[in-house]
Amino acid sequence: MSDDTPRSHGRLAISASLRPRELMTDTPMLRGAWRARIITLLPEAFPGTLGLSLTGKALQEGRWALETIDLRPFGIGKHRNVDDTPAGGGAGMVLRADVVARAFDEAAIGTPIDRARWPVVYLSPRGRRFDQATARRWAGAEGVTLLCGRFEGVDQRVLDHYAVEEVSLGDFVLTGGEIAAQAMIDAAVRLLPGVLGNAASTEEESHSHGLLEHPHYTRPAVWEGREIPAVLTSGDHAAVDRWRRAEAERITRERRPDLWTAYSSRAD
Ligand code: SAH
Repeated sequence: MSDDTPRSHGRLAISASLRPRELMTDTPMLRGAWRARIITLLPEAFPGTLGLSLTGKALQEGRWALETIDLRPFGIGKHRNVDDTPAGGGAGMVLRADVVARAFDEAAIGTPIDRARWPVVYLSPRGRRFDQATARRWAGAEGVTLLCGRFEGVDQRVLDHYAVEEVSLGDFVLTGGEIAAQAMIDAAVRLLPGVLGNAASTEEESHSHGLLEHPHYTRPAVWEGREIPAVLTSGDHAAVDRWRRAEAERITRERRPDLWTAYSSRAD
């Protein structure tokens, strides 16, 4: 029988503690490389898009590592049940505190207890909204542990017990935390040194200085009768900078009055 388990470069899968850890990587991880540990019922959802393009290349190069912890083997009984009906009644199912706790214990092995050095997060629509500052904070840590919920969510006691931070991808409800985890990891990984070819691009883009980014243009010079703004082809770099700044301010003012207010009060 052939082993057709998908194997991705730079991916370390952690099995339930009953079995020895299986190293699913053939690329040595760089010393001190940033690590994302994901507790999920759907480990096959990873690396997903994180395995492609710049984040995928960085994963292969060992600049960061992705470790999935399958929640299922920590389940109860023959069927490895991970969920149960909500106390107090109501629709749906809730992930059990004892089951999730075992996965958190497994995830904690070899990681610092200090949450500043290693954030432990539950992806949740009730959480504080993820933003660029959070991405920077995570990228500055040694790694993160992310718990992906399913069904109605997770027993509150396990979140309280493990001092888990709740973080939301936005004000909408997904069926599970996996897509949110991938989006957030992508945002953090692209800030790691050497992941983007051009480091300057992370300093100028949207949300870096509290403003949205200016518009971009490239060839052809005229398309469907529309020209590139003349200043961009003038060769006057100072004028280009001024134009970009003014456009960034205009777009932020028009589209995101909330960001604009925060930005202007900071500039005062
Ligand atoms: N009953 C919950 C929603 C559960 S959705 C509530 O009303 O708050 C199922 C799972 O999807 C959650 O446990 C969470 O891990 C994930 N999820 C849903 N929406 C999300 C969002 N906006 N950001 C991050 N994770 C989300």
